[in-house]
Amino acid sequence: MDTLTIQDVTIPKLGYGTWELSGDAARQATATAIEVGFRHIDTAAVYGNEREVGDALADSGLPRDELFVTTKIWTDAIEAGRQMEAMDESLQRLGLEHVDLVLLHWPLSNRPVADQVGPLGDIQKSGKARLIGVSNYTTSMLDEAVKASDVPLAAIQVEYHPHLDQSKLLCAAREHDMMFTSYAPLGQGELLNNPEIMELAKDKGVTPAQYILRWHMQQENVTAIPKASSRGHMEENFDIFGFELNDAEMTRLFDMARPDGRVVDPKWAPAWD
Ligand code: NAP
Repeated sequence: MDTLTIQDVTIPKLGYGTWELSGDAARQATATAIEVGFRHIDTAAVYGNEREVGDALADSGLPRDELFVTTKIWTDAIEAGRQMEAMDESLQRLGLEHVDLVLLHWPLSNRPVADQVGPLGDIQKSGKARLIGVSNYTTSMLDEAVKASDVPLAAIQVEYHPHLDQSKLLCAAREHDMMFTSYAPLGQGELLNNPEIMELAKDKGVTPAQYILRWHMQQENVTAIPKASSRGHMEENFDIFGFELNDAEMTRLFDMARPDGRVVDPKWAPAWD
């Protein structure tokens, strides 16, 4: 497994996303992902599955330091200035004493960035999260957040896949020495039927999902958290460390970016880069 080290914390570059998994399906899927080999797990308070994800982590019997667990604080808590309380509630549901990374899930347009990000420093200092960061921030918001935080931000999580150019934000993340996590790394599955990607993958002897995830893995500071429900998809997604894309193959996917490539764009989203 390729890893990335940020602030002395080693992070598996390939993680497992749990959005839209709930109830026993979330517990079962997370347990299967861990069996398959995933050690980096992404959840969020708003996914409503922290309890089940936490059960799967506990049932795995793995030492805590072999797992990298991310959760996210939802906007209601940020708006109320309850970031620390939300962290405590997430930890209680997860059954953990700390997470490896806590993120603010979305920026709020009606609150100063400093008020949103400031409490994250207290969370890290309290030991409840080893690393802190933000999600769905634009480049200018990220620069502002970095300046506003008295503890260095370690991560930004945003949508990223071959249909979406994120070069500006990725460059900023690297400058700030932050992990850049690709969510919806497969374009929520849409990219898997792209004829060009299907052809490239076939020539390489891999599947479209493997080809795209390999493209993420070979980018500096990038980690990716594909979600998959079945063991077959999880095993496929995990089996990407035995081949490499050459420069021309990487470029072919970079060249697929298009203006309408974004798939996650809710009404509360900021004015994207
Ligand atoms: P995604 O990972 O790009 O795509 C998931 C879809 O791809 C599912 O329909 C899945 O199907 C399918 N899939 C996965 N592996 C496959 C394979 N090998 N072959 C065929 N199909 C495959 O999209 P996502 O779930 O939106 O994003 C991943 C994670 O990012 C989320 O789970 C969540 O943890 C995080 N996220 C964060 C935010 C945020 O605001 N911070 C927003 C969105 C997502 P099956 O389920 O049937 O396997």
